[in-house]
Amino acid sequence: MSGGLQSNIPLAPLTTWKIGGPASWFWMPESEEELLEALAWARKNAHPVHILGRGSNVLVADEGLPGLTVCLRNLGSSGHEVTSMANGTAVLEVRAGLSLPRLSKLAAQQGFGGYEFYIGIPGTVGGGVTINAGYGPGDERQTANRCREVRTVSRDGEAAWKPYSHFHPRYRHTDLVDSGLVVTAARFLLEEPSSREAIRAETAQHLALRHERQPLTRPTAGSVFKGTPEGVPAAVYIDRCGLKGTRVGGAVVSPKHANWIENEGGATAGDVRALIRHIQQVVREREGIELEAEVRLLG
Ligand SMILES: Cc1cc2nc3c(=O)[nH]c(=O)nc-3n(C[C@H](O)[C@H](O)[C@H](O)COP(=O)(O)OP(=O)(O)OC[C@H]3O[C@@H](n4cnc5c(N)ncnc54)[C@H](O)[C@@H]3O)c2cc1C
Repeated sequence: MSGGLQSNIPLAPLTTWKIGGPASWFWMPESEEELLEALAWARKNAHPVHILGRGSNVLVADEGLPGLTVCLRNLGSSGHEVTSMANGTAVLEVRAGLSLPRLSKLAAQQGFGGYEFYIGIPGTVGGGVTINAGYGPGDERQTANRCREVRTVSRDGEAAWKPYSHFHPRYRHTDLVDSGLVVTAARFLLEEPSSREAIRAETAQHLALRHERQPLTRPTAGSVFKGTPEGVPAAVYIDRCGLKGTRVGGAVVSPKHANWIENEGGATAGDVRALIRHIQQVVREREGIELEAEVRLLG
């Protein structure tokens, strides 16, 4: 599926949870020019706009999304440019639709490490910089330290490169979220020269750890809740409350990782939302902790 305005498009196949109703209007631009066209159409028709990358951090409502959904996974999903800054540091420029695992591989091809953590994050560059994706120790600094600039387009069609720091990246959040700005490209610093063997070993270690700890064979959206401000993973509380295996309809708290909700098949957004509320209530009552959703609830 690609290009042009379409109506009544099912969104479930475009999310990793495989859940959610249709987009009233849908556009999958392949260039910034086409994105501008889509935004202008929405403006002219006074439609709200929803932005989707690879749908790996969202729960789309069963009723679907009104207005226009713009999915950016085809926006420059291949292609990149390496340039040098005045101080000799190399910069890798990619478009928003590139997948994060592909970004990891591109950096490796240039002989640079530090991007291995992206290998198991199935989102786009646009989604990754918008929510400041990270993994493991120093999570909130992983993207923040590497992304130098982002190119954004406003709903009025104004495009500009801005320093990433301008958007105050913090743990799983930036000022880009809900700003109305659409990320169309990003520039990443290549600062850690590394041997192919070292990058390969680090990448393999990341993948092995994920396979060991995460339910990667079922549709999920990764971690459902953020860790606490004190840095305690949400899984600790959910596990302690004995919630692994708890289910609502086709949605079940993963027996493998307490902070992941699996779609066993046929789960609805209503099931997942009810399970999220149940987990929050039990953890609040038994642990006195307010868990905040990491996944974005759309619609
Ligand atoms: C198996 C699995 C493992 C995961 N592991 C991790 C992990 O280790 N670390 C981690 O941080 N996340 C993880 N995630 C969650 C997810 O992959 C990341 O949050 C990813 O960055 C989301 O990118 P996306 O393109 O899928 O964004 P989407 O889910 O499509 O969108 C997420 C949010 O960003 C907005 N958005 C998306 N693209 C743009 C854009 N171009 N411009 C403006 N706004 C935009 C959307 O409107 C939405 O609000 C995991 C998910 C899965 C399924």
